[in-house]
Amino acid sequence: MSGARHNAMMNWRRRRGSGSAIWDWESDAATGAASTGRASADVVRRRRLGAGLALVLLVAVGAVILAGGPGSHGRAQARARVRPPILVAPDRFDRAIDRVLAGSPLITEGGRRRREIALTFDDGPGPYTGHLLRVLTGLRVPATFFAIGNMERYFGASTVAEQRAGDVVGDHTQSHPFLARLSRADQRREIFAQAQRLHGLGLAFPRLFRPPYGSFDQSTLAQLRRFHMLMVLWSVDTQDYRQPGVATIVSRVVAGAHPGAIVLLHDGGGTRLQTIQALPIIVRRLRARHYHLVTVPQLLLNDPPPPGQAVPPRLTGG
Ligand SMILES: [Zn+2]
Repeated sequence: MSGARHNAMMNWRRRRGSGSAIWDWESDAATGAASTGRASADVVRRRRLGAGLALVLLVAVGAVILAGGPGSHGRAQARARVRPPILVAPDRFDRAIDRVLAGSPLITEGGRRRREIALTFDDGPGPYTGHLLRVLTGLRVPATFFAIGNMERYFGASTVAEQRAGDVVGDHTQSHPFLARLSRADQRREIFAQAQRLHGLGLAFPRLFRPPYGSFDQSTLAQLRRFHMLMVLWSVDTQDYRQPGVATIVSRVVAGAHPGAIVLLHDGGGTRLQTIQALPIIVRRLRARHYHLVTVPQLLLNDPPPPGQAVPPRLTGG
């Protein structure tokens, strides 16, 4: 079995109906030749998952019920309900992402015509995510999260709470590897496993992807193209994961702020109290400069970036 045939095992195909985007998949003819028992089981599982919108809704309802129990995540969710509703149909975000993808497989920032900035949080969900969500809700700031699959088992309720609050959840792989060090097949598994997990939590199949450590290669881009995902890098790196102090995190965001900026922050991977403490100051200072905080899809919808953005020479965060 060639690598290419194996990689073509699964094709996601997008359908639209009744104003909603529905993800479905079809197995390639190569699947039969490729099958190990595990691969076959995967195919069956994926087919079941893709059975239709009804199942998606059922899973969503189940996940919401599970997430509504007692504990900090349940409280975070209850607080999150007071967020203002998102007035843009999700389908419009999908089309905005499609338009960007037509010109470039990746972005580092949005367009520069509007004073809008997207705050993004990587490496959750984790023990600080609920607290972070409450702070964001209090600030009325929507955010974009790039979540790790292995964390969903423990903190999946926070991911559901993010989605219910109107935040956007993107794929940050299953186990946070350096993708450029992996084979093409392993890269696909890392990307797809988390997408599948988010789908299982009742979220839409993710349209946004961020590579851990900013590590990717042409194989990564090929897989993302197959899954109709846009790679979202960043234009402002706070390095908050190093815990440089609240004042330093704030000053890095404010100094780097520009129209269309995508800011890299973290809600997992260690103690995130500095990030959480920095947020109200960041938001206040950005708003004083007349910036509006939006999610990444909103940024792309309002002011799409020019095609063919250059990749920064040194990417160390993510
Ligand atoms: Zn990361």
